[in-house]
Amino acid sequence: MTTPARACWIVRKILDAKKRYLNKDLNEALKDCCTTDKFRIKKTYQAFLPQYQKMKWRGLVLGSKTIPKHKFILWLALMGRLATVDRIQKWGVKVQSDCVLCNTGAEETLQHLFFQCSYSAYIWNPILQWLGEKRKVSNWEEETEWISRKTRNSRSRAQILQFLYAATVYHLWNERNIRRFQDKKKEGRQILKEIVIQMHIRRGQQFSKWRRVLESLNS
Ligand SMILES: [Zn+2]
Repeated sequence: MTTPARACWIVRKILDAKKRYLNKDLNEALKDCCTTDKFRIKKTYQAFLPQYQKMKWRGLVLGSKTIPKHKFILWLALMGRLATVDRIQKWGVKVQSDCVLCNTGAEETLQHLFFQCSYSAYIWNPILQWLGEKRKVSNWEEETEWISRKTRNSRSRAQILQFLYAATVYHLWNERNIRRFQDKKKEGRQILKEIVIQMHIRRGQQFSKWRRVLESLNS
């Protein structure tokens, strides 16, 4: 059975897993379930678990030091599931296509919001500078690749970087929604201040190791 292209994400995953299970050779599968000729239920379970490609960025959404709502929006962005204008228009909905953050007439796409848009660069660039990173903000793929590489360890600095990335993506998306649907707006400076305060108050006090890193960055 062919997986319907219009099926939702979870249904497609279930159907793909079913196909994989049915296509497996039974004798080969049974060998995978045994250790020194003894049948192991644990190995059986592991052998039939669907194997999916591991995303390089998985650590960004598995870390426990990020605020859950930030993590959720970051995950949607990483999966290309944020309802940006270019996606909404594909569904036949007519909406103003211009980016509401920079008002330059650029079309709102994931690539533009993160981080071609001058408004988003205005927020993320100072964060990079504050962290002592001698690099300018790049595009969404390269920025995510760089962050994923830098946060592979569990050191405090990596956790802080992870926190800041998720917070930046969340606040940019939130500001975009507020401007589109509530006709209100905040200056980039205010958003930046909110991210930094959130990091210091909500996280800095909970994780003593962070405090030392934050103190050295602030000095
Ligand atoms: Zn823009």
